[in-house]
Formats: sequence, structure tokens, C-alpha cells
Amino acid sequence: MNLDPYKALGVDKKASAEDIKKAYRKLARKYHPDVNPGDKGAEEKFKELSMAYDILSDPGKKSEYDNLGQEAFYERGFGGAGYKQPDFDMSSFPWADLFGDLFGGGAKGGRATRGSGGFSFDGLGGFGRERAAAKGANREHSLSVDFRDAVKGHDITMELEVPESCARCGGQGHVSNGGGLRVCPACRGQGSTMGRQTIKAHIPAGVKDGQKIRLRNKGYPGQNGGPPGDLNLLVRIRPDAVMSRDGDDNLLMERKISLYLALLGGSVEVPTISGKASLKIPAGTQNGARFRLKGKGVSTDRRTGDLYVTIKVVLPPKLSDEASRLVQRLQELAPLPQDDPGQG
Ligand SMILES: [Zn+2]
Repeated sequence: MNLDPYKALGVDKKASAEDIKKAYRKLARKYHPDVNPGDKGAEEKFKELSMAYDILSDPGKKSEYDNLGQEAFYERGFGGAGYKQPDFDMSSFPWADLFGDLFGGGAKGGRATRGSGGFSFDGLGGFGRERAAAKGANREHSLSVDFRDAVKGHDITMELEVPESCARCGGQGHVSNGGGLRVCPACRGQGSTMGRQTIKAHIPAGVKDGQKIRLRNKGYPGQNGGPPGDLNLLVRIRPDAVMSRDGDDNLLMERKISLYLALLGGSVEVPTISGKASLKIPAGTQNGARFRLKGKGVSTDRRTGDLYVTIKVVLPPKLSDEASRLVQRLQELAPLPQDDPGQG
């Protein structure tokens, strides 16, 4: 499915990150499966929104989409929901390894670094030196995590593209052609081709937006027998339609209740990370009152936070004449000091 993420979120290309987030939250709230139980259309729409937000909230993917255009973007394999999209992040490509190889020095002697102005080489003294074992380059990959998964923790499996020594030419970059040599057609002289690497990782409960998770030895392959580098997963948390985080441990949400429930008291259900919970509403609960559900926040081995529920009192939309008279009667019986006695 070639989704137009801008269309899906109803924003234009100039929309700011904040606008995109707002549009996502608004629509996610509308189409959230909790709000539309059993509605397949809403569920589908909700998936589209998540996918669109995945693309547009990630500066790398967004600029990729903007630059490549819709068709080329999906051809390169970003389509489909979940974490299975292959990703090839140019900024973390191990240029050092490739250039180190070309110059025969290994990463220790001749290291290429990719600065903002392009490529530069330091320490070319390594040119022609004996090949030393070198640790592979670290790589970074951004990982989009659902809000509730981030609170609860979960296991992920994803596939990443990694450069591998070209099987056709054995990493030489050329193959024999009659008596001579020609550029390897499989890797076009690069000596490496892109392969797939399956990464499994546990995202710990309570992970925060912007946090990095380091997976040792899951980076780019080492050279000449050296160990692989590390993979750093940069966690990006998709906002939830209902809940938000407050600090490390606590969760916040709003719950609407009717004027009648606020006046008379009762109980309501509230969604929590561990399922629905019942919240007791005392008679005379004010709009904006905040209740704490102990232990329903972020829970890790070390700590357990709470869920704070802020009450929004909803008034009946339009009163019939009879209802209006009853409310006037109520006002007489239970006057409030805030009201001007001359009014009503
Ligand atoms: Zn090759």
C-alpha cells in the first residue's frame, strides 16, 4: 500500500513537527480502536495514521519521502507497518570501513570520516600498511515505539540492511574476464553488497523518547577479524491518543463524566496500561478534579508510578423546557455563591 502520509494526516508539506503531532493526535483519538470497538474501517484508518506518523515524525524518513517522492520511497522498501521495513541510513553508513578497505590500511591506519562538508581522510599514513583487525563501525537506527509498548516494555524483531562482502568477487571489486580483470557486476566494484540482518531486542519498560538502546556487536561488521561495532537504537515514542507521560513514572489522562455523575457520584471505567480499572467518583466532584490510581503508572523492576486522571465534566447539550425548569428548581434548592443573585 503506497500511503501518502501527508494526505493520511491531512497536513501539507510545510507543516511543522508540532502540527504533524497535533494532527496525528487528533485523528488517532478519533479512530482509536478503544473508541471504535469492532469497527474494521476505523482500525484500518488507525493503522494508516500510525504509518503516516512513523514516516513524518522521523526527520530521516520524512526527508527521504520528500526527496524521493511517493513511488520511489516505497520502492525502496519503506512501506508496510511494523518494524520489518528495511532501512538504509546514509548517515550511518560505514564509509570508514569502505574507504579503509580501498586504501588497504584498515580502519586503524587510514580512517575516513564523514564530516558535514563531505569526506575527509585522516591518518593516511596507514596507506599500504599491514591489515590490522579493526572493530566495525557503530550504526544508529531510529526505532518507532508505540506509547503503550514503551510503558510496558516489549520485544521487537526488525530487519536491517548491512553491507556484506560481495559473494561474487569475494570483496575484491573485480572479477577475471578472459586474461584480464573487469569491474565486478554484482557490486559494481564496491566489494560489498547489501545483505539483511535480523535484529531481536527487548525494549525495556519505561523507555523514554529520545533514549538510546545500545546493542553490542550488532553494528557494522569488523575488518580482518575484528569484532562488529554496536547498534544504537534511537527510541522515538508515538504519542498515545489517551495517555501521556509525566516524568519517568507517572501517566496522565483525562476522563469525561456527565454533570449528573459529577453531582451524584458513582464510578466509571478508565483504560490503564494493564487493562480497564474502575474509578470511584465522589458526589460533588468538580470539573478538573484529579484522581490518582496508585500503581497504574510506569512499572519497572525498580519503581512503580501512578496514573492521574483529570475529570472533565460534560453538560447536557440542550435542555427541553421541562428539563430547564427542573434545573431552575435545582438552582433554587442548591444555589452557588458564585452566581450573581440578580441573574437567572
Ligand atoms: Zn563484487
